Amino acid sequence: MLKQVKKSVLGTVKFVGGFNALSKSSWRRDRLLILGYHGLSLKDEHEWDPTLFMPQQMFRERLESMLEFGCSILPLSDAVRRQRDGTLPEKAVAITFDDGFYNFFEAALPILKEFDVPASVYVTTYYSLKNWPVFPIAVGYLIWKARDKVCELEIQNCVSGTFDLSDETVRVSLHAKIHEFSLTDELSALEKNDLLKLLCGQLGLDFDDFCRERLFNLMTTEEISEVSDAGIGVELHTHRHRMPTEKSLFDREISDNRDVIFETTGKLPSHFCYPSGNYDPMYFDWIAKNGVESATTCDTGLMERSTHLMQVPRLIDTASLSKIEFEGWLTGAAALIPKRELIRSLPAPALVKLVPIDQLDMLSIAGTF
Ligand SMILES: [Zn+2]
Repeated sequence: MLKQVKKSVLGTVKFVGGFNALSKSSWRRDRLLILGYHGLSLKDEHEWDPTLFMPQQMFRERLESMLEFGCSILPLSDAVRRQRDGTLPEKAVAITFDDGFYNFFEAALPILKEFDVPASVYVTTYYSLKNWPVFPIAVGYLIWKARDKVCELEIQNCVSGTFDLSDETVRVSLHAKIHEFSLTDELSALEKNDLLKLLCGQLGLDFDDFCRERLFNLMTTEEISEVSDAGIGVELHTHRHRMPTEKSLFDREISDNRDVIFETTGKLPSHFCYPSGNYDPMYFDWIAKNGVESATTCDTGLMERSTHLMQVPRLIDTASLSKIEFEGWLTGAAALIPKRELIRSLPAPALVKLVPIDQLDMLSIAGTF
């Protein structure tokens, strides 16, 4: 419902020329849109989780939209520096990918090369050295792949019984149980991989085929090196995709991550992305002291002059974001739509009145929401 309201407001703004006016405004020129992606599907991953995976064709269409709107797509480091210097070009955008999945190498890199646009990838390096599937994601996907089956499952002292996997609630609860078990029992990476193999067998799926596809593997260091040589920025995302609350452990996450990236690419990373978007102001100083210039979150918004460099918002672009919403972010219009809480309290017609079209390019509009 809220999504529908947003889409209809954006449709109206676009129809009356608001997208065009706003995208050329000094208000938009002062702001940087950082796009965040997780992965492009190699097969059907987006059907399982459209918030994590996007079909390759959709990503291609996103790039086409950016070029149609005349966006200036900048490397992340240039974009952040120019935002601070006040020298951003019109409709500035930076593209980032989180985690460093193999699908970045296999699917995203060729498309980025074809469109000749820069991007950065925040890599978490522990699994790069292992070349095993990332456990929690792989569990969820494998259970989904068996969604037409009723399976007998017997996994250590974690799950036991008959499960009708056509029922989504059963699948979700099973996924949560296995994930939690791996955490509470502090399974090692090897034990988790063995558990995946066991699960695959009991679900009637072929583990060797699954491993060969590398749907949820991270890039190997050789692939990261190739990506870096192709001009992609390789940046920090912690070594083990975690944010320890003890400073010495946190510093180790950064230094281990940085060491692998430096040994692999010969370049020192200086931008960071919070794993799973989890952050706390406590980290700001810790991160800055590690020589990091910017830290991005999964909070939605444009980077502006007042943005704290250790708390930089992005638009996490997913397969469930419509074309009009995406265009709304390119032009900046979407940033002016009232936040969720305000939308809830307003009837739809009131929203349209809140954005008088003749004032769309006025700086003051931004301050009213
Ligand atoms: Zn991540």
